[in-house]
Amino acid sequence: MNMSSRITQDVDRACEVLQRGGIVGMPTETVYGLAAIARNEEAVSRVYTVKGRPTSHPLIVHLSPHDDIKRWGHLNESAQLLANAFWPGPLTLLVPRTSLVPDWVTGARDTVALRIPAHDMAIDLLNAVGDAVVAPSANRFGQVSPTCAEHVVNDLGDSVDLVLDGGQCTIGIESTIVECTNSNVQVLRPGKVSALDIAAITGMTISAVDGPSRAPGMLLAHYAPKARVELFTSMDEAEERCNKYELTGVSAVVLHHVDMTRYALSLYDNLRSADLNGNEVVLAVLPPDTGLGVAIRDRLSKAAASN
Ligand code: AMP
Ligand code: MG
Repeated sequence: MNMSSRITQDVDRACEVLQRGGIVGMPTETVYGLAAIARNEEAVSRVYTVKGRPTSHPLIVHLSPHDDIKRWGHLNESAQLLANAFWPGPLTLLVPRTSLVPDWVTGARDTVALRIPAHDMAIDLLNAVGDAVVAPSANRFGQVSPTCAEHVVNDLGDSVDLVLDGGQCTIGIESTIVECTNSNVQVLRPGKVSALDIAAITGMTISAVDGPSRAPGMLLAHYAPKARVELFTSMDEAEERCNKYELTGVSAVVLHHVDMTRYALSLYDNLRSADLNGNEVVLAVLPPDTGLGVAIRDRLSKAAASN
């Protein structure tokens, strides 16, 4: 099969591949996921292998809006309020799991991460499959997440059975992960749904993350291009450094957007372009530490920590 024949817009074909135990690049509004039926141990194991992801990093279970959530997880009052407010959408809820959720999805933890994506093609696929699918980002472990079908094919090539082309992701960075396992509500990974949004819906004060073990895989270094990423607090500083690099023959590029939505949308594509263009350094201007800016700063800091 050549590259282009591996990309399709045919949901039925993608459904057949999943039901046969295959793995499929699936569009969502956040980033492209590498989908496998959650209850198929062999398919899920292939997802880990293809990504090169440690099996200690559990996977998010994606559900259709027509699914009965209670079959998969126990939502407390806060979780239910958040689900009502933000699903389908870029929010993952970490809740106590039911016995239907297999150990190979959660790493035998007693919690499960659940999300209903807001992407028509993803929802059509989930409805056609009629079962939950895991869908970690469809890239190799530690590298830049994919935001279009071509990124998935470029990263995973022959290792993925099919890529469902749903166009460019409309958000461009991964979902917010919120833990709702006791009376506490904690943001474990920032995303488009902000801590303020969550506080407004639940009426609770959002506590700070209290340790990495609650969400294994929240590494310091992640989302990294080959180019070195350097962080700046102002455009002037970044441009000054860029000019200095150019004088010494180092190929550098400045990354910046005033508009947070556009910054998030183009972030991973810009990091990938830097590598394709042979840039040795990406000089990224950090956005303000509010709203979507919190999530962009998180991803940029992790990309810079991989240097
Ligand atoms: P990704 O698939 O890369 O978007 O990352 C999903 C992340 O969600 C994991 O790395 C964990 O941090 C978190 N996660 C998923 N499932 C669980 C779970 N059952 N318990 C705790 N954290 C989880
Ligand atoms: Mg990922």
